[in-house]
Amino acid sequence: MAVNESMVQDIVKEVMAKMQLGAAPTTSHGVFSDMNEAVAAAKKSQQIVRRLSMDQREQIISVIRRKTRENAEILARMGVDETGMGNVPHKILKHQLVAEKVPGTEDIRTEAYSGDRGLTLVELGPFGVIGAITPCTNPSETVLCNTMGMFAAGNTVVFNPHPAAIKTTIYAINMVNEASLECGGPDNIAVTVEKPTMETSAIMMKHPDIPLIAATGGPGVVTAVLSSGKRGIGAGAGNPPALVDETADLHKAAEDIVNGCTFDNNLPCIAEKEIVAVESIIDELLHYMVNEQGCYLASKEEQDKLAATVITPKGALNRKCVGRSAKVLLSMIGVEVPDNIRCITFVGEKEHPLITTELMMPILGIVPAKDFDDAVEKAVWLEHGNRHSAHIHSKNVDRITKYAKAIDTAILVKNGPSYAALGFGGESICTFTIASRTGEGLTSAKSFTKKRRCVMTDNLCIR
Ligand code: NAD
Repeated sequence: MAVNESMVQDIVKEVMAKMQLGAAPTTSHGVFSDMNEAVAAAKKSQQIVRRLSMDQREQIISVIRRKTRENAEILARMGVDETGMGNVPHKILKHQLVAEKVPGTEDIRTEAYSGDRGLTLVELGPFGVIGAITPCTNPSETVLCNTMGMFAAGNTVVFNPHPAAIKTTIYAINMVNEASLECGGPDNIAVTVEKPTMETSAIMMKHPDIPLIAATGGPGVVTAVLSSGKRGIGAGAGNPPALVDETADLHKAAEDIVNGCTFDNNLPCIAEKEIVAVESIIDELLHYMVNEQGCYLASKEEQDKLAATVITPKGALNRKCVGRSAKVLLSMIGVEVPDNIRCITFVGEKEHPLITTELMMPILGIVPAKDFDDAVEKAVWLEHGNRHSAHIHSKNVDRITKYAKAIDTAILVKNGPSYAALGFGGESICTFTIASRTGEGLTSAKSFTKKRRCVMTDNLCIR
């Protein structure tokens, strides 16, 4: 039984009223008070989805794309209003990227072997109902992207989202179910509970009808999922270093790195979190960052105040600072700056708390290295073995190759901003679930399938 229609309606009406966008949708879909009921509804829906043709699935995905484009601004504003993190223009871009570049059914490809003894196909089939845990940093982006991929592969999905982003999540879930219904598909292709908690998460993870769990978030949730006894896709934390050597185009490197670092106030897990630069070029790089790219050079005293503000005495992040702009962060330590300041920088050792911690805010420390090899060593140390993302600005392909092998990350962007890895100003697909820990890398529909071998003996080979 779908519950609390009125709550979903209230959320939608509140947003529509705030944005003066006219009439709110009159239905709500996919929201349950009880996790077991949510799983049951997704299971019932999956029995219909598995019988849909690929063409029908693709039609539904194309309506999800359209609705994502049409609702990009609403979702962006909801995300910022509800979580207090990120910024609206960049979140709009992220939703447009989801609409355009998250793959659909074309990602599901069959392998074929044919010869004297017949024809064998290896087909990618659905798991059934997938459990998904999503972060507050990219809430609706992850829900939409996961739903499109999982549904393209013939699954339905139960979300246990971050409670701090539940309204935004519900809006996105309602939207994908409306897309399915509009095309004659079932309701509840994606579902959630109105109050997600650790308990609802545990029920979902242990539920016998959920064979696969995809977790997007910090180290805690990935470890929890990988300890569940189920197959798990773990998209965990990063701390991506951007290495700059003396062969780089420093002007462009400064622009790319600051653009990447400040995208959505540094919320994406792939975004540049610190720079490691060879000593001889630091002055010039800083010059471009400060004089051309809107970076504020923090004094030692300001760095100490920032560290005491953004990191709690127990070493955790102060959630009131995550995803805030440089201007807001500086105002928290009593420094007022003009609107063109978009990033805070300083030179410090790799152990500096503002450098070694994954902050998810536009604070970009620069670690000096005596030469390229020293820079590689420091960058590998700073990535903390997450094997998630790293970046390099260098014209020397031997060095790029050496760095790529040493750091061994799911993503390595060369001579560009980090978001090129999401297909924004770079080639290939978009995803907001990067499974570095379990090895799928940038997830897409095929990541949510299981392989099936289909064998015809002695026939259908027509070579
Ligand atoms: P978070 O780890 O606090 O929460 C993520 C999700 O996990 C939430 O839904 C939360 O409720 C849940 N959760 C947390 N601990 C759990 C546990 N022990 N058991 C069950 N569920 C648990 O992260 P966040 O602040 O929402 O997001 C930021 C973090 O996520 C960063 O570390 C970032 O790098 C990472 N992230 C990774 C990717 C990726 O694709 N690899 C994408 C986005 C964010």
